[in-house]
Amino acid sequence: MKNLKTYTNEELQNIIESIGEKKFRAKQLFEWIHGKRVNQMDDITVLSKKIIEKISLNGYTVQSLSKVKRFDSKDKHTHKYLFKLEDDHVIESVLMKYHHGYSACLSTQVGCRMGCNFCASTKAGLVRNLTAGEIVDQIYQMEKDLNISISNIVLMGTGEPLDNFEEVVKFFRIVHDELGKNLGYRHITLSTCGLVPKIYELANLNIPITLSISLHSPFDDKRKEIMPIANKYSIDEIIKACKYYFNSTGRRITFEYTLIKGVNDGEREARAIGKLIKGLNAHVNLIPLNEIRESELETSTDGNVQNFKCILEKIGVNSTIRREMGLDINAACGQLRKDYMDAH
Ligand code: SAH
Repeated sequence: MKNLKTYTNEELQNIIESIGEKKFRAKQLFEWIHGKRVNQMDDITVLSKKIIEKISLNGYTVQSLSKVKRFDSKDKHTHKYLFKLEDDHVIESVLMKYHHGYSACLSTQVGCRMGCNFCASTKAGLVRNLTAGEIVDQIYQMEKDLNISISNIVLMGTGEPLDNFEEVVKFFRIVHDELGKNLGYRHITLSTCGLVPKIYELANLNIPITLSISLHSPFDDKRKEIMPIANKYSIDEIIKACKYYFNSTGRRITFEYTLIKGVNDGEREARAIGKLIKGLNAHVNLIPLNEIRESELETSTDGNVQNFKCILEKIGVNSTIRREMGLDINAACGQLRKDYMDAH
């Protein structure tokens, strides 16, 4: 069966018309699935039993993620979820409470094929892409579970969002639709290790989300050591694509920089970042490495982290240090899903 949750409003209209029903029925269907959040066909009472039956007979249904487990941090500001998909694969999502509201970190793939050597999500490779319905349902299930409303979305969970381009774009359209969650594009951030052609494609779609680049080194040779994708696209090409993105969407770029002891946390790197992103008016998120079992890499010392930030400041680059939240529940970087897989 095909999951109705995974179609945009426009796609639903085509489906409904193709089975001989009137277009406005699609809007009703979309509103009940994404606005009222029904979890099964029979609950869509706005449509007659006959139409519901017809939709089902054509192979469509409403599917939902099922919650395997929720982990709460001691301070109750971070909740980590494991969800099971229809085919029994497991994904993770994180909910974080900030003073300005709830922010959700969503997965876009089951596993990942990018192979960054400090990241737990990629260690077992890519299993499959998530559908748009599976991406958006992470929001719905977390909101329902805690009876809250999420105001910010970051695609920084498991997976490389630009490696699952079509479904991720459909997800944007679904979550933005006023009959559904009605979330402004400005409240969405997509993080990528730098799939250059896809950055151009995204820029041309007129979906002004915030683009965040996982830089992790201002030098191509060092970047190649820790991120295999750097063998395919150079930093220069990424920066050019970022400029294009900024000019097309008006959205400022952010850069993520995971600080790894002795690998990328020196003064030379900090100064080079300054040169590299000058003129982009970008913001840098410094993330002290969250150490994982599968790698020997260590996190930077507090002194080095502060020093790095200081140098950036002196050369006029804005940065914040992002302390990973919920470390007591392994809330970062795919470690929970991996633990679950190792145990089952
Ligand atoms: N594939 C996307 C999104 C995934 S992860 C990307 O590469 O951007 C979101 C961020 O967490 C990325 O910047 C990623 O490099 C970083 N990250 C992954 N593992 C980490 C770890 N162990 N410690 C700190 N940051 C990590």
